Parts: sequence; structure tokens; C-alpha cells
Amino acid sequence: MSGRPVVILGVTGSIGRQTLEVCRHLDVQVAAIAARRPSPELVDAARSVPDAGVVVTGGSRDEREWLSGELTGRDVQFDSGAMIQAAGVPGRLVVNGVVGAAGLRSTLAALEAGNRLALANKESLVVAGGLVMETLRRGNGELIPVDSEHSALFQLVEGQEPRSLILTASGGPFRGWSREQLDEATPEQALRHPTWTMGRRITIDSATLVNKGLEVIEAHHLFGLDLDRIQVVVHPQSIVHSLVELEDGALLAHIGVTDMRVPIQYALTHPERSRTPAPEFSLAGVSMTFEEPDSKAFPALDLAFDACRAGDAATAAYNAADEVAVEAFLAGRLGFTGISAVIATTLEMLGGGSVSTVEEALDVDARARSVAAGLVAGAC
Ligand code: MG
Repeated sequence: MSGRPVVILGVTGSIGRQTLEVCRHLDVQVAAIAARRPSPELVDAARSVPDAGVVVTGGSRDEREWLSGELTGRDVQFDSGAMIQAAGVPGRLVVNGVVGAAGLRSTLAALEAGNRLALANKESLVVAGGLVMETLRRGNGELIPVDSEHSALFQLVEGQEPRSLILTASGGPFRGWSREQLDEATPEQALRHPTWTMGRRITIDSATLVNKGLEVIEAHHLFGLDLDRIQVVVHPQSIVHSLVELEDGALLAHIGVTDMRVPIQYALTHPERSRTPAPEFSLAGVSMTFEEPDSKAFPALDLAFDACRAGDAATAAYNAADEVAVEAFLAGRLGFTGISAVIATTLEMLGGGSVSTVEEALDVDARARSVAAGLVAGAC
């Protein structure tokens, strides 16, 4: 195990909380934690790691004062630059569990410093995959995926040249629903994910298959494979976390419990393994099924392949449009099928191209957000 001090970005989110648990379990030092805003959850997290620096990137003046009062005597910094700095201190292991494009600069800072980056922030690769992979090569750091599918692929691929990667998708709560039924789907229904417990946006993204689309884009960059060698299969039980197909036709599958603490811990201990706090898994009595994704009912998956072919500017727009549309859906301002419609039109309006700097990536992100917001407003 690396034994390096760990930095947890997005500590109050689902990945961040579970990373704290894994760090306690492994007895590794947490050097710093970061969150977007002051909250009772952040106070709890900070108290559980009394020696860690605390970084908060947003929040109102009142919220900040309240937090300073709760954490008297602690090293608390209110600045998004401090989060990037914390990620860029050499010799650290950075777990990036930030949600959204806000995680990109920290990803780049960690890789530039040659750190190990345990990446749960999908947007880093979706918004600027080319730039991230180039920074990885230049900085000599390590990028270990935390997303369960990519962690599985990372473990399966090691040392082999796969013929194809097969990502599994649970299919979400609306698997088997028709387009007409989906028109009426509510946020409450969409938030009921059958197998994984996750944050709100990713749960909706699982229902639309946008999440799988983002994962296809991630896999394309992480493993350097052409899109025609990446497939998606719906596997409702989420027991097989992904598969690789080798040259001789053999399929290797990664099987285990649906518990994010396992891939989080692997990213920390790689190449070693140790026991995890997750429950044990027994195969007896388990049935597994696999089916093709329904691309008519869930067009967002094909849109991700199209965006990926069009370049990083298009995948950045795909992600930004989705964030805006999901927010509108959760607020009751957009129907469920409106989410993929907003993404499709945003892509049509913005086109593709490459992204070579953070500024370019954030510019595409901002433009896509404004286009998508206009489309949402027009749909009301
Ligand atoms: Mg996943």
C-alpha cells in the first residue's frame, strides 16, 4: 500500500464519506478534506480527522462564519484555489469525489505533481479527457479509476491488450419502460435506484443512461480504445461490474458486491489488496441476466457515442447540458424525456472539436449551460 497521506475532495458527498470510512479502516492519514459549502456533515467529517486541513470552496459569509465557529482552532481555508493546491502537494494520494466540472483543475494539479489520483469525478475525463491523459503522461502520476465499472476494467485489463471493453449498466429504475411511460416519469420514481445508493444527479443519470454514456467517454480516454471496441450491456443485478473481451474470445468478468468502498479501497491500496468493510459476497443462488440497452427509450447513450466521436468540446457540452437538464427535472421544470432532448439539441447547436486548455473546457461548459438553460426555459 502507498502509505501516502490522502486528500479527499468532495468529502461530504457519497464517495467522500465512504472514502473517510475506508481511510479509517486502513488506518491511513488524511491530510486534507474539501467540500463545496459549510454544512453539519462537513463539521462531522472534519471532527473525524482532527489533524486534516479543511478547505471550503463556496458558501455565504454567514455559513463561513458559522463553520469557523464550529471548527475553532482548526486550519480552515475558504478558497477554491486552496483545493487545487491541496491536490497538487507532491507525495499525496488525491481522491477526487467532486461533482461536476469544478473537479477538473484539481485533477490536473494532482497529475501535474505526479500524485496518485483516485478519480471519481467523471467530468474531468468527460470535459477534457485529452488534456487529462496528456497531463498524466507528462507528470508521471497515476490515475486509478474509482467508478465501479472502470475500477473493474482497470483490474481486468492489467497487462493485456483487450479486444473490447464491455461496460455493464443496471438499466436504472425505468428499465423496460416505453417512451410514453417515460414522458410521465417523476423525480421521486427516478430517484429510486434499484441497486446502488448514490448522489441525486448520478441517480437521475442512471435512469436516463446518461451515466453510462459518461462512462463510455471515460473508458475511451482511460484505456485508449476506439469507440467501436466499447460496448454497453444491461445487467440489472449489478453483480458483474464490467467485462473485457480478449483476443482469443475469452471474457473476463469482475464480480462482487455493489459497495463503493471496494473500488475506493482498491484505488488506495493498488497493486495490493486487503480486506474491506464491505459484506462478503456469495454466488450460490444468484441469477444474472444480460440484455441490449433500449436506445429508443433511452437515446442519451447513443448521444454519448456521437459526442465522443465529435471530440472533447462535444462531450463537455453533453455533460453540461445534462447537469442543467437534471436540475430542471428535479425542480419539476422539465419532463424526464426532456433531459435527453435538451442534450441532443445542445449538441446540435454547439458542435464538436478538441479542447486543449482548462479555459477552453470551462468556456464550452459555460456556453453549453447557457444554451441548455434557454432550451429548458423554452420547454416550460
Ligand atoms: Mg459507475
